[in-house]
Formats: sequence, C-alpha cells, structure tokens
Amino acid sequence: MFTFHHRYAELPAMLWADGEPTPVAAPGLIVFNTALASDLGMEAQPDDARMAGYFSGNQPLPGARPMALAYAGHQFGNFVPKLGDGRALLLGDVFDHQGHRRDIQLKGSGRTPFSRGGDGRAPLGPVLREYLVSEAMAALGIPTTRALAAVTTGERVMRMPAEPGAVITRVAASHLRVGTFQFAAVRGDHEALKALVEHAIERHYPELAREGNDEAPNARYLAFFEAVMHRQAYLVARWMGVGFIHGVMNTDNVSIAGETLDYGPCAFMEAFASNTVLSSIDEGGRYAFDQQPAMARWNLARLAECLMMVMDGDEKARVDEATAALSRFDAVFARERRNVSADKLGLEAASEGATPLMEALEDAMQRGRMDMTATFAALYRLAVEPGDERRRDLLALSEAPQALSDWLERWQHARVTDHDAERLAAMRRANPVIIPRNHRVHEAIHAAEDGDFQPFYALLSAVIQPFEDTPEARRLGTPATADERVRRTFCGT
Ligand code: AMP
Ligand code: MG
Repeated sequence: MFTFHHRYAELPAMLWADGEPTPVAAPGLIVFNTALASDLGMEAQPDDARMAGYFSGNQPLPGARPMALAYAGHQFGNFVPKLGDGRALLLGDVFDHQGHRRDIQLKGSGRTPFSRGGDGRAPLGPVLREYLVSEAMAALGIPTTRALAAVTTGERVMRMPAEPGAVITRVAASHLRVGTFQFAAVRGDHEALKALVEHAIERHYPELAREGNDEAPNARYLAFFEAVMHRQAYLVARWMGVGFIHGVMNTDNVSIAGETLDYGPCAFMEAFASNTVLSSIDEGGRYAFDQQPAMARWNLARLAECLMMVMDGDEKARVDEATAALSRFDAVFARERRNVSADKLGLEAASEGATPLMEALEDAMQRGRMDMTATFAALYRLAVEPGDERRRDLLALSEAPQALSDWLERWQHARVTDHDAERLAAMRRANPVIIPRNHRVHEAIHAAEDGDFQPFYALLSAVIQPFEDTPEARRLGTPATADERVRRTFCGT
C-alpha cells in the first residue's frame, strides 16, 4: 500500500506518545482521494470495504506505527502548556513523487494519551467540511494539508445533539507547529528544541542546511525563523486573496511548513467586509478577516521566543536579533499582498500600484456590499471580453455602482498590458469561479447526516476545479440569498 517511514519516532521521546486507534462499529467509505494516493506511492487500490477498514483504524495499514504528537499552544492568546493530538494518530510518513516527505494521519480515531476529557472522535460534519475545504484550497493553489479519505464509523458521537461519527485521513508536509516548539520550550528542553529545528530544516527548508555552524548557530536559527516567516506571509496573503478566514489561528494550528492547518470553524467571506468574523467561538474577533496578518506576526513572535532559548549570546543581543527579524514581517507581507493583488487585478506582475488599487476596490466592494468571489470572477470576465455587457454584469453586483464605476476607470488606466495572455492566465488562476460557500457546505453536511452524500459529491467535484466556468459551478457558486446565508460557523469538535 504505502511505504511508511517513521521519522518522527527518531525525535526525542518527550515529543510523542504511542497510541492505537480504537475500532469503530461499522466503517463505511465515503470518499477516497485516488489521485493523492497515487502521488503518495499507492499503486493498487483495494476494495471499498478494505479501505474503510484501513482508514477508520479498524485494520492496521501495513507498516504503520501510530503515535500521537505532543504540542502546546496559545489558544486565543492563552497559553496551554499541554495540548497534543487528542483525537489524531500519525501513522507514519511516506515520500511523494517529488521526493517530499508527507505525514499520513488519522483524525477521529479514538482517545490518545493527549485526549484529556475528550472522546477522541470527530463528528461527520467537521470531517466533510475539512475534506471539502482543504481539497478546494489545494485546487486554488494555496498551501494546505490534504484529505486522503473520509469514513463513517457507524457510531454516534455524543455532542449536543448526538451526531454521526467519522474519521478523516489527513496528509501534511508535516505536523510540526509553532506549538510543538512551545511544548519543548516551556519544559526547558533545549535538546528537543534543537532537534526540532534540525528536523524542520532538513524537511522543509533544506536550502538552509548550511546556514550557520556549530560555532555560530544563531545564523541558522534566524535563517530558519525568517524562512517560516516568509511562508506564513505568503500563505496569509493567499488566504485573503480568496476571502478565506481561518478562524482559529492559535499557535497549535500554525504549520511550520506553511500549510493551512486545522479546518475547524474556517469559512470564506461572501459580501466583502474587512472585519468579518464567522466563527462562533471567536467572540472578540481576534481572528477577523483583516486581523490575520497581525495574528500571523503574533504567532511568529511566539516561535521567535522559543528559538531565542537556544541561541547564543547575552539576552540583549538575542532579543535584538529576534526583534529585527520579526520586524521584517510587515514588509514581507506587503510584498506578498502586492503580488496577489497584481494577479487578481490582471496587472503586471508585482506591479507597484496593485495594493492601492486593491484597497480602492475593497472599499468599493464594502460600500456596495459586493460578493467578493463574484466580483473578481466578473472582473476577470470583463478583462477577457471588454465591453458594455460584461461591465453591466459587474456593476449589477453592487449596491453602490457609482463607486465601482469610478474604480473601473482607474483600473482601465492601470492595465497597460491589456491583452497579455500570460497576465490573463495569472488573473484566471487568482480568481476562482467557485469557492466552498458556507451555505453549500452546510447543505452538503445536512444531507449527509441524513444519509444522502450526493450533494457532498457534487460540491466536491465543483470546488476541486474552481476555475472551470461551468453551469454546475455557477449553480453551486452563486452567493447565498438572505434566507440561505450562514452567519456563524462552529468548529464542532
Ligand atoms: P483543535 O480545536 O482541533 O485545534 O483542538 C484543540 C485541542 O483539543 C487539540 O489538542 C485536540 O487534539 C483536542 N481535541 C479536540 N477535539 C477533541 C476530542 N473530541 N477528543 C479529544 N481531544 C480533542
Ligand atoms: Mg488544532
């Protein structure tokens, strides 16, 4: 099936604990990601019953060695020194076709040494949400963990009210988080911290392998920190380009590899409003749409604190070095935002004027209560086929068309490279026709809870080809009406 390795087991034992999946009553395969499986080296696919056995944890996958990973984390700003995989088990890592190590993990597979009061299980709803949204993100070209399989358990999980249970198989570049470093740091374990840095460099930043040496390790730690910072800035800028709100950017959910990790209460914004909060648990709006860069930076400061513990030199020198590195975040993020903006607006790559023009459009969208995805999809259509009809289609999306019409003048001026095929292709890739809208995700989940998986399959097929302008994409991609709108999302753990 897979050729498993167990790289994590070579890390200090304080960072993980052995665990075993708890068998479920009646596993049933919902969906299996054949393309991903083949990229991970799986050649022949067994029948559905066997697959359900493997990906529920009832049947051990040959070569797997289940373990739960330890981590700490700041949850909404409050430090929790011991979190860890309370309902997930790493089965091992495999090499994909590009030669990259990828973790395969079961989530919802029962209690582990880190479960605390929890049951170790996952309800069907959050499993389907993670499957849909993470696969959509991958198709949008945004770094993310992937979904390999989803299985029903034939059991109910005790929530209010009871819900059907499920297990998702998640694939990640790794499950190293900022919180993993915090777990070692808060225990004062310098050896474990150093081992984590070396492992992360080897795995995600091999180009840094020669930075610094045993006599001058600070350069190595700082280079590592800056590399993680770049990936976070890149990631958050891409999220914001498609209106994605992660919803729970706690340090335990920040991947060192720079992938989107943990699809709890996440959601896509519909009508553009910069301070949108959709998660029911984010009462203070800490992780609102426009707070995401500042929160990424806050999380990186927590990583810097861990790394400072293993740097050489007096405290002042270490603080100065780390602070200087962190202070570059805003410039790095601004560059990524400019790149995303230039692509979305069809301007020359990295064009200087892209950010101000984007800000002006955001303002017009906000004033006109315009659906963000629909606006950019219409703008792309106008770029491809300039003319009154496309222009009217776009203006019709706004409740304040004059503001938008003024903005369109500016946009026309800025687009010196009107018919550049390469720029139009970049614009296409930055502006999806369809994203997994909340009401459609909810509709798919509710039907599945009643035993009908058809809406889930239909939505999945549409969101994994987000740039295909088909009738089905337009049907499932239309903004919610006032009645359909979902204003709150729940993480549902
Ligand atoms: P999350 O909100 O998914 O980021 O999880 C936060 C922490 O709670 C992690 O340590 C999880 O492993 C743990 N957790 C969440 N749900 C459960 C559950 N049903 N059983 C045990 N642990 C859980
Ligand atoms: Mg989490």
